Amino acid sequence: MTFFSVIKIDNVGKKPDAGSFNYYQPINMHTKISSSIIMRIKEFGESDLLINFFTIDHGFLKGVAKGALKSRKRFANCLDLFCMSNIEYDIKDKNGLHFLHSGKLLQAFPGVRNNFTSLSLASYMVELTESLFPQGICEKEMFELLKKALLILDKGAASLKPLRVFFEARAMALGGYEINFDRCCDCKRPYTGQGTAVFNKNKGGIACLRCQKESEYFPSLDPEMVRDLISLQAGIPSPAWLAKSEKINGHEKVLKLHLNFHLGKNLATAKYLADY
Ligand SMILES: [Zn+2]
Repeated sequence: MTFFSVIKIDNVGKKPDAGSFNYYQPINMHTKISSSIIMRIKEFGESDLLINFFTIDHGFLKGVAKGALKSRKRFANCLDLFCMSNIEYDIKDKNGLHFLHSGKLLQAFPGVRNNFTSLSLASYMVELTESLFPQGICEKEMFELLKKALLILDKGAASLKPLRVFFEARAMALGGYEINFDRCCDCKRPYTGQGTAVFNKNKGGIACLRCQKESEYFPSLDPEMVRDLISLQAGIPSPAWLAKSEKINGHEKVLKLHLNFHLGKNLATAKYLADY
């Protein structure tokens, strides 16, 4: 589907004659339509909205939806926070903003916005996504991860901590920060999947007990934790993982150290996460 906008072209540099023809030409030949997750919304002027959206085929983008507050026809319910919509938009202008023409709601995920706990987790996941995938970096798997997490939140997960840890591990791996569990990051001895290892945040991997002592900043991992984290990073958590409500504090601690080290900061939304 191609959207043509028209612009009136007068004779350049000349005062148009009263009887001259008006010439029209398309200014946008390459309008795109992408499945998108709405990440942020901000009112702009009297009736416009600034939208951050994560597309399946062009990654994270920013755009302006002209008249969106007034036009319920072009943007019927499709620009709500964290919903998934097909967005029709143009290439970006000189300010890096895309022009949104219209949208169609695909999935509303109303349960995400039902309570503060799930809303906070969704905000956190969106901020982590923005940190790992700046504008224009395409990663279809990241879109699928975000969609899957919102779907679980929408249905009302029994416990949210396993979902958050899964999201963190998978998102970091997709962003190029996969934890290396193959071998000791110091002496390079292969890890056989038995015995205790120690997480080294500075090297993004595990160390053997000969090379690194366990401490608050170098937490230990048993073989089961290593197996769990490998499957989380691969995006295939064990069936029982998302229902797990205990024995995941160790995983959580490792991911927290890993995230903070590579992102160089605490995410702003982290302080709103419930202590579940
Ligand atoms: Zn070693």
